[in-house]
Amino acid sequence: MRYLISIFNFIIDAVFPRECAGCGRNGTLLCTTCIEDTQRAPRSEHAFINAVFDYHNKTIKRAIWRLKYKNARGFSKIFAPYLYDEIIGALGNELFISGGENILLVPVPLHKKRLRERGYNQSELITREILKLDIARIFSYAPEILVRVKETKQQAKSEKRNMRIKNLRDAFHAPPTLNARGKVVILIDDVTTTGATLVDAKRAIRHLRPRKVLAFAVAH
Ligand SMILES: [Zn+2]
Repeated sequence: MRYLISIFNFIIDAVFPRECAGCGRNGTLLCTTCIEDTQRAPRSEHAFINAVFDYHNKTIKRAIWRLKYKNARGFSKIFAPYLYDEIIGALGNELFISGGENILLVPVPLHKKRLRERGYNQSELITREILKLDIARIFSYAPEILVRVKETKQQAKSEKRNMRIKNLRDAFHAPPTLNARGKVVILIDDVTTTGATLVDAKRAIRHLRPRKVLAFAVAH
């Protein structure tokens, strides 16, 4: 098994060498100095959306791109503690009321076709890393709450913002048999820009009657 893991790591390193997304230093995907230098995300126009890092920051942009498209899955482990702290901070008193079964972590899903192409969902990787930090078992993992039914096309940069928002509408489905009634649902995503994806996801789960829906992204 150890042998297999080392082969696996070798392949990963060959695909993507470990060098800091900020300063290029060897041996780490993102060094502490570079991550600490990153600015906080500006507030989203949607009150339920929270984000940690400023997506305009080149280091963060590069890191997320590598996480998403270059199989550099280790970034999920680097980002998770920041999101974890952010969630705990935002929940505040909610932690005393809820907890355990009542706070659900839901990664924003990819369409199955996209998942097949990429081989992994970066939001799911981040969520799983957050759960590893949750030794107090505050959260329950509930990825099944949200299904992506519509594949959103990779939009060209020049395309109008309105078109993009229209394209995203009703991209998700929340199976009615699932129980989220009275619970706090926390959506996890890597990046939020207009917030359209998260607004759409929130709308899709409304019929499950959660008490509250919050969303957290690595960057905005
Ligand atoms: Zn660095």
